[in-house]
Amino acid sequence: MPKQTPTALYPALLGEAEEGGRVRCRLCARLCSLPEGKVGYCGVRMNSGGKLYSLNYGRLVAMHPDPIEKKPLNHFHPGSYVFSIATVGCNFACQYCQNYDISQRRVVQEPYTPIEKVLELTRAYQCQGVTGTYNEPTIEAEYLIDLMREAKKRGYFTTWVSNGYLTPEAVELIAPHLDAITVDFKGSGNRDFYRKYILVPSAEPIFETLKLLKAKGVHIEITDLIVPVQSGAEIEDIKKLAEWIAANLSDETPFHLLRFHPDYRMLDTPYTPIETLTKGWAVAREAGLKHVYLGNVPEGGYEDTICPSCGAICIERRGFWLVKNFLKNGNQCPSCGRKLNIVD
Ligand code: SF4
Repeated sequence: MPKQTPTALYPALLGEAEEGGRVRCRLCARLCSLPEGKVGYCGVRMNSGGKLYSLNYGRLVAMHPDPIEKKPLNHFHPGSYVFSIATVGCNFACQYCQNYDISQRRVVQEPYTPIEKVLELTRAYQCQGVTGTYNEPTIEAEYLIDLMREAKKRGYFTTWVSNGYLTPEAVELIAPHLDAITVDFKGSGNRDFYRKYILVPSAEPIFETLKLLKAKGVHIEITDLIVPVQSGAEIEDIKKLAEWIAANLSDETPFHLLRFHPDYRMLDTPYTPIETLTKGWAVAREAGLKHVYLGNVPEGGYEDTICPSCGAICIERRGFWLVKNFLKNGNQCPSCGRKLNIVD
């Protein structure tokens, strides 16, 4: 727990002094070089006097209990609740962001929320864990590391929902405190998609983050938001991403294909056709992934966990809600006894 009362300028991690009074932030893969008095791309890290400071330490804009399936984490404490927190700002600029009012805001005006208060609410809402979500948790790493450290001492698990655009140094600092993560791809990691719709030069650092997180033993689930802007070419990108996951993480890694809905600056783009998603589902299964889910698609049983060996339903879900957990001993198929990649 930090002893001082956090001020608006809180000492930030991973700042590196450069010539001419500049500071390079090495927290995310944008690697912003900040002149004196300026903030980075995310809007919440500032160079003051040649040192890097966080402007959003504990300045929470959202606190909410959520089912873990909403993150989505389908293979990590199924049916549990997590207490979600967020600040303003983001290192991405997704042109369809459903939380753009907080992620794209560049003015921090929220009061400080002590970690003790977050943990009090976590207990009051009967949540089993805490999570950084809604905006990119990386940009509030200092507060989340302190929160996760305290949360774990008290028996809570810790999770993030992240775009995965971290530096290796940031993963080193964060991973020891993190139990599980959902890493959100957009457009299956296609470089042109990232440049045009996310304003990020390349998804390459995300793949490196995933390899490091796996080596650190963090439970990983992958989402892929399928935005229908490539006239059917999306399927080839889904295949490539699924093959990468199977080869570099595990064929048991849960893979969630998410249906796009119009928002923010992409109100004229239609919902993802269901047919695109079901084709993507089949392609990801053919690529070897054993647990492929469709998010925001209530029909067809695509949210259920199915035993890869015998096809029995192991967990039945509707939307974010767990209807029935049939698993034996927390992770075994009720029919054939096969062990699934599920942390209970
Ligand atoms: S965390 Fe913010 S300031 Fe740091 S490199 Fe990323 S966008 Fe730039």
